[in-house]
Amino acid sequence: MTYHKMRNNKLGPRVVKALKERRFEAWYCEEKEDAAVLALSLIPKNDIVSWGGSLTVAGLGIPERLVSDGVAVLDRDKAAGPEEKHEIMRKAFSCDTYLTGANAVSEDGQLVNIDRIGNRIAALLYGPKQVVVISGMNKVVKTLDDAITRARTVAAPLNTQRFPQLRIPCSGTGACADCRFPDSVCSHIVITRLCYPEGRIKVILVGEDLGF
Ligand code: SF4
Repeated sequence: MTYHKMRNNKLGPRVVKALKERRFEAWYCEEKEDAAVLALSLIPKNDIVSWGGSLTVAGLGIPERLVSDGVAVLDRDKAAGPEEKHEIMRKAFSCDTYLTGANAVSEDGQLVNIDRIGNRIAALLYGPKQVVVISGMNKVVKTLDDAITRARTVAAPLNTQRFPQLRIPCSGTGACADCRFPDSVCSHIVITRLCYPEGRIKVILVGEDLGF
């Protein structure tokens, strides 16, 4: 076992405990395959499921597995054009289960997310009956301030490397310049301090590096 894994296996359950104290449901999975199986087990067969743009959710192959299991999904990437895409994004607010990653998690159990449009964060806050957040332990940092810093200076500039067409400083430099450009991916920065209603947000921490 690597030192990395040894550390994650010790810290992960502690963060799970902190999340539960904030009324999230929470689990720690050492391996990503276990996390995918757990996430799928949390979704009732008759649910309508959607998800936000998340490398973690995609990397676990969950969308494909839902489709092959015959689960009804709202997948904006299957839209024929921009109008249909936004229609699917709006419908996602009333789905049963919404899947997303997290940009940062503090050791005391708070989630921090950053978003350009805000659809992913909006669904996290209200709408879908339940939200399943899957996060690699690479997102876990010590304090809430560290989590905000991570979201802004690590997650966002990494994420923008996927979109070289955006006219923003971090796309070219790799560093956040606290921009206010129209293309900025940092319109909304949200702290989820407590889960309300209790248990609506389910957090699966994974003892591996996943996503940004
Ligand atoms: S430079 Fe702008 S878009 Fe890039 S991370 Fe900073 S605020 Fe966000």
